[in-house]
Amino acid sequence: QTSQVVQVNGGGQSLTADKIVNMMPVTKRNPKDYIFGKVIGEGSYSTVYLAKDIHTNREHAIKVCEKQQIIREKKREQVRREKDALNILSNSGSSLFVKLYCTFQDTERLYFVMSYAKNGDLLPYINKVGSFDAACTRFYSGEILRALEHLHDLNIMHRDLKPENILLDHNMHIKVADFGCSKILEQPEAVDNTTILDENNPRQRTNSFVGTAQYVSPELLTEKTISPSSDLWALGCIIYQMIAGLPPFRSRSEYMLFKKILNLDYVYPDGFNADAKDLVQKLLVLDPNERLGTMDDQRYTSIRSHPFYNGLDFDTLHVTNPPPIY
Ligand code: ATP
Repeated sequence: QTSQVVQVNGGGQSLTADKIVNMMPVTKRNPKDYIFGKVIGEGSYSTVYLAKDIHTNREHAIKVCEKQQIIREKKREQVRREKDALNILSNSGSSLFVKLYCTFQDTERLYFVMSYAKNGDLLPYINKVGSFDAACTRFYSGEILRALEHLHDLNIMHRDLKPENILLDHNMHIKVADFGCSKILEQPEAVDNTTILDENNPRQRTNSFVGTAQYVSPELLTEKTISPSSDLWALGCIIYQMIAGLPPFRSRSEYMLFKKILNLDYVYPDGFNADAKDLVQKLLVLDPNERLGTMDDQRYTSIRSHPFYNGLDFDTLHVTNPPPIY
């Protein structure tokens, strides 16, 4: 049905039904516009369903949040952050992020209609193969870097970047998801990649650390400041994990884990790709201003031009066939 050709305006133009749906003013949707299928994931305050739009036949991932639970667990701010960031990103036209098509609510629930990332998240792939080869690591970390360039250009910080939040679409390209911890900087003109924001400005201070302990940057543990550089630290952790199979900083106790992060206490397993090691070492730097990329303008050119990425064309990654994961 989606590819059916329909005549509009007396037959002057041929358009697919899909294109017409995209052009139509979005009329307010409600749950009856979708056939809800299997549960594809559970979050701390939400259930994500695979659902089909009865008008377009398109598959979507619909995140359903119980209002009472959001209020009880004080997640209002998180839901608002996620919606705001996804709205900005969806309007930006980038294919590197989960797209938010629409939101609606009924008396009990909130609904987020998103693009469906058919191949799940990156973590099980890393766990399954134990270690990505250099081509895979280069490709997937390259796509993540491009996503960060786009995000930071829009003054959005993800703040919870990790393999579980990197989803994969039907073509095995990434779709960054989970913007519940994200932060949209309120004074874009005052921010560039080199700036650690004014700690005395309450708007730019975090009260407690957000994100996931293993990927949290040292400055978020100590200074509690917000900077795009924290996402570059997480990128360093993810590159390490793609090659080593596990994140660099690990401990059963959060206290010990944070101590290891603050002491840069991690080791490289034998056989770790030498160029990748050099890149990770330049990203896992305690001073956020000293991390590779922080002095760059708009694009992370110094990361793009690191020897690990020799031969990778960042600008055509999205139209390149991803290397097989093994
Ligand atoms: P929390 O909200 O507690 O941080 P979370 O991010 O895992 O956790 P959700 O955003 O509700 O919670 O997502 C739950 C799971 O649903 C994800 O881990 C993912 O596996 C799956 N999921 C979410 N969005 C999509 C999507 N657009 N396409 C495919 N799967 C998705």
